[in-house]
Amino acid sequence: MIIIMNSKTTDEQIAAVEKKLAGMGCEAHVSRGIERTIIGAIGDESRVDREALQAVAGVDDVIPVMKPYRIVARDHHEQDTVIDIKGVKLGGKTVQVISGPCSVETQDQMDAAAAGVYEAGCRLMRGGAFKPRTSPYTFQGVGVEGLSMFRKAADKYQLPIVTELMDVRMLDTFLEHDVDVIQIGTRNMQNFDLLKEVGRVHKPVILKRGMSATVKEWLMAAEYIAAGGNHDIIFCERGVRSFETYYRNMLDVTAIPVLKRETHLPVIVDPSHAGGKAWMVPALAQAAVAAGADGLLIESHPTPCDAWCDADQALSPAELKTLMGTLRAIAQAVGRDL
Ligand code: PEP
Ligand code: MN
Repeated sequence: MIIIMNSKTTDEQIAAVEKKLAGMGCEAHVSRGIERTIIGAIGDESRVDREALQAVAGVDDVIPVMKPYRIVARDHHEQDTVIDIKGVKLGGKTVQVISGPCSVETQDQMDAAAAGVYEAGCRLMRGGAFKPRTSPYTFQGVGVEGLSMFRKAADKYQLPIVTELMDVRMLDTFLEHDVDVIQIGTRNMQNFDLLKEVGRVHKPVILKRGMSATVKEWLMAAEYIAAGGNHDIIFCERGVRSFETYYRNMLDVTAIPVLKRETHLPVIVDPSHAGGKAWMVPALAQAAVAAGADGLLIESHPTPCDAWCDADQALSPAELKTLMGTLRAIAQAVGRDL
């Protein structure tokens, strides 16, 4: 931590900072310049209370030297982390595409969806049994029964399943249904109690970016999961709120290289909830792979116009298959495969 004193600081104020630092277990190194005095705090930065220092008279600014996230930081683990999801590797050379409907509807719909996902060449499947809807009067998901339908449909093609957990009371049910990847949605990115609970289990977690979250807040949310012992975390960029109303969210492609630099964990992109329209999905998915995403989360439905949720953004099985071909070429151009 570096403490910058203001230009009119007094010896008493500097002594007060030294005393405060000593109380936090740190030694103070005072450098008196012509214009300013700066104090370097030597010791365990996690014990330093930045706000308390900021409040001392004469202190202009307190600048941390260490990153606030640790386990998820690239500094902690130089190599890319590859997460093994029932034999499907995410974060390695192969770009993985997770696809499936927004929501689980019926067994027939899930069977047809699984066939479409598998035939397009995707190796993981998505589908929500519990849906976070803006209105309480719209379809909320089929619930627990949906997990069984999903499991049955995906097992036929050995597709690991990804589904959203909204309520911590459902965690045991998710484990009983052998959910392979727990998705934490945008609305729950900072539901710290939920993050702590998924941090205690040994299941990969997809952590979607909060719709207005900064990269730092997102990394800190992941740190909550990692601090509990679960290091199998996948970041998912899904677009952020912006001033633009033409599309659902603004896909932050910049976040991909930034996260790849800051963390060793895999980074995937959801082009469906970003654009919000099926016709935008190919362009956004292509941009994501070109920018270095380790995977994609794409909504698809056997008959998009019949979907109970997000019908306008789901790809048909044929559209998904065509997109997979284009994505394969882009992946190869950036030294990956798909
Ligand atoms: C979803 O993927 O089903 C979903 C609800 O996405 P988000 O949390 O990004 O809105
Ligand atoms: Mn959806």
